[in-house]
Amino acid sequence: MIGDLNLVRCLARVGVPVTLASWRAEHTNGLSRHCAARLRLPDPTHDPEGAVATLLAHALGCASRPVLFYTGDPDLLLVSRARHRLARAYDFVIAEGALVEALVDKVRFHALAERLGLPTPPTLPPTVTQAVIFQPVEIKGTPWPTATPRPTEPPLDLTGPTPVPSPTGVLLPETPEELGFAPPPEQVPLSPHANDHFWLMRPVDASANSASLFYYTFGSDGPQNQWRVHHGIDIPNPVGEPIRAGGAGTVVFAGNGGELLETRDIDIYPAYGNVVVIEHDFGFRGQKIFTLYAHMAAILVEEGQHVEAGDIIGLIGGTGDVSGPHVHMEVRLGENKYFSVYNPLLWIAPYLGHGVVAGRVTGSDGRMVEDVTVTLSRRGRVVQTTTTYIQPKQAGQRRDWHVVPDPAWQENFVFGDVPEGEYEISVMVDGRRVIRTITVKAGTTNFVALGYDQAATPQPVQPG
Ligand SMILES: [Zn+2]
Repeated sequence: MIGDLNLVRCLARVGVPVTLASWRAEHTNGLSRHCAARLRLPDPTHDPEGAVATLLAHALGCASRPVLFYTGDPDLLLVSRARHRLARAYDFVIAEGALVEALVDKVRFHALAERLGLPTPPTLPPTVTQAVIFQPVEIKGTPWPTATPRPTEPPLDLTGPTPVPSPTGVLLPETPEELGFAPPPEQVPLSPHANDHFWLMRPVDASANSASLFYYTFGSDGPQNQWRVHHGIDIPNPVGEPIRAGGAGTVVFAGNGGELLETRDIDIYPAYGNVVVIEHDFGFRGQKIFTLYAHMAAILVEEGQHVEAGDIIGLIGGTGDVSGPHVHMEVRLGENKYFSVYNPLLWIAPYLGHGVVAGRVTGSDGRMVEDVTVTLSRRGRVVQTTTTYIQPKQAGQRRDWHVVPDPAWQENFVFGDVPEGEYEISVMVDGRRVIRTITVKAGTTNFVALGYDQAATPQPVQPG
């Protein structure tokens, strides 16, 4: 096993800058004059996502791609379990996952060692320009575990479903294969119908999870009506996934919502954590368009910087008021304000072969029906459900905390990324089940009116 201080000395002697990463204060306070820098990590046993985010953010600040060394069981497990994400930023050598899990479990290791003999620990030649070293947990005598069982932390369950719905995200499996396949998105801008305005790319890669949380959709307040009305969409992904600019524009805010000066007339709150707001180069019907991306692990742009659509602006994280890593995205129209939000699903181009379904549920009084479940089914099988907006505002209303229907569609629910084909949409209105069939066309918004107000389908707006 590679030693700790000895390795640092060797690397320093040949001119390799070494950063010491540790979650123990005594290590980061003053270890070796050979360390070029020290990085304070969250305890990887209790906050593995925080530790991964800190490591990824550090690598982004390095002049060249660093090599990661790890010496204790907690860091071995951390690197193993986050290997796909860390490998984007670091070079390191690690055994395959099942072997790592066996190595840190004393009983399993003993059985393994009896079967195979002691394995050779991984080493790396010091031929690199930078290195990050985990400070090892105190190692006495042989660094490898002995047969003496001692308590180990239970392995993290990164693959199981989240037992309790959270308002702001779930932790997805680490293995990318389990995230599923998604086709590439349509090119932007895309406006097959005069009311369409798919001018934004989605803020995550096509290979990343792109599904918004179904129980906290835009304009809803959660399954038990217990949360704030949601002003954006939440796209859960593992910490460290890139967040991309939805469109070309200028970064008008890049910082932590908790550190915003009150003198700035924009609505950014501590709950957003690390947040970036882009003012786009294009507008809509004479109004400015802003997009907001919240809860970043790391911000990779600066205020005043111009970005192109698809540029990486930050990394998925869990900063601010969240219970799992995700990006919260808002589309703000007219002004950079919390009460000027519109449903991002009507602005982000759908996947190839997929359309968007928008609709309006109205009651016998002609008013929009709030907070009812809308079900989208295909051949009797439910494919998506959503909830109508809570107290959507009428045009011209200002200064309350609810969302606004789209200026073009006047909808109160939206389904994103629906494969083209025939569907039934159903909803309960005034104690009566209303069902419509709808043919979803790809690349456009497919509108459906449900309820008494059948003449309500928006007509195309004449250009000019
Ligand atoms: Zn959110």
